[in-house]
Amino acid sequence: MTPAAFHLAGNAIFRKAFDKIASSNDQSGVSFANQFDSLMEAPTPLVRRFRKLLEARSDGELEKMAQQSQILTRRNFGKTMRFFAPLYLSNECVNNCQYCGFSRDNPILRTTLSIPQVVAEAKHLHNLGFRNILLVAGEHPKFVSDGYLQECIDALKDLIPTIGIEVGPMEDDQYGELVEHGAEGLIVYQETYHQETYEVLHTAGPKKKFHWRLDCPERAYAGGFRRIGIGALFGLADWKYEAIALATHLDYLMKHCWKASFTIAFPRMRPHAGNYQYTPDPALSLDDRSLVQLITAFRMCFPQVGIVLSTREPAPLRDSLFPLGVTHISAGSQTDPGGYTGAGTDDLHLTVKGRRVELDEPASCDRATGQFEIDDKRPASDIAHLLQKQGFDPVWKDWDAAILTP
Ligand code: SF4
Repeated sequence: MTPAAFHLAGNAIFRKAFDKIASSNDQSGVSFANQFDSLMEAPTPLVRRFRKLLEARSDGELEKMAQQSQILTRRNFGKTMRFFAPLYLSNECVNNCQYCGFSRDNPILRTTLSIPQVVAEAKHLHNLGFRNILLVAGEHPKFVSDGYLQECIDALKDLIPTIGIEVGPMEDDQYGELVEHGAEGLIVYQETYHQETYEVLHTAGPKKKFHWRLDCPERAYAGGFRRIGIGALFGLADWKYEAIALATHLDYLMKHCWKASFTIAFPRMRPHAGNYQYTPDPALSLDDRSLVQLITAFRMCFPQVGIVLSTREPAPLRDSLFPLGVTHISAGSQTDPGGYTGAGTDDLHLTVKGRRVELDEPASCDRATGQFEIDDKRPASDIAHLLQKQGFDPVWKDWDAAILTP
């Protein structure tokens, strides 16, 4: 046997063994939703350590945690920062989530981009340097219908090597179809892990199903997603409860879905359509100091997990958090469909109970309504430049499907 043939045979044996181990981990009937309550009551040693790190700390102790977090991040990720941009496809939605501008009952200007409009938005982002795009859409079976996401991915995959999706939960075979079309990342935030709060905040639509959403990352993994992002929307329930539940979820997923890579995010509530006057509830809010503690505690317990920081946060805070443990950032984001190029403004309309209603008169605004207000409005190039001055390498592209091509 030649050395090359020996190498190929070795690969085949390794792949067989790998698949066998993977399938042996597929314990039917076991899911995070089934185990959530018991894991919260009897945490694993890792989650116990995480809880301890969330206890009150002096400034000096927090500083030490931050230093440790920085060291671990550099050791596992180097001095790099990955850039991505959200591309909103549609702001139509059949769910009523009381914290979201796209909620069904909000009388906002809505649109769903056509495929050429999606391509125009992606080309704009591509020209800015982005090679990692997150396709975002509300959950509406008529507008974001079967086949639409597949068409979007097909139209973009030659231009954008890393395509993620953040859309309504699906079955694993539906996820498998999206992976086959070229999607490789899925983001799904539980919003709140506090079930009673979840039930109060979700008053209509399929998103009411707490456990169905809880198992979404596992269905995405079964469908073949390579990257999975989880998180909670901080500000809806007690932040420490959310953080511990998130750590519990992550710990579980890393053991059961170990072929995927994971990211976590801690988005904080922002003003949005339906509540532009939003101010955080002091009893629930995650303040800046606690956010630092949270990022460092996650890094110390999960050194290899990506930590995402979005443009929801103000520029000065983002700048100070970048070196601490963050590995993935969005920049220059727009949260309305067509927000980068003005696409989709030719088809603005309202919906009533999810059904399309034409405008009686021209709208006071000439663009679709965004999901929430971003805070850091700096262009991506400015942030990349700033990071470079601090010795970071901005990473625009870290994946290409050719890597897996035999
Ligand atoms: S959070 Fe998602 S599902 Fe809920 S209203 Fe907003 S877009 Fe729709």
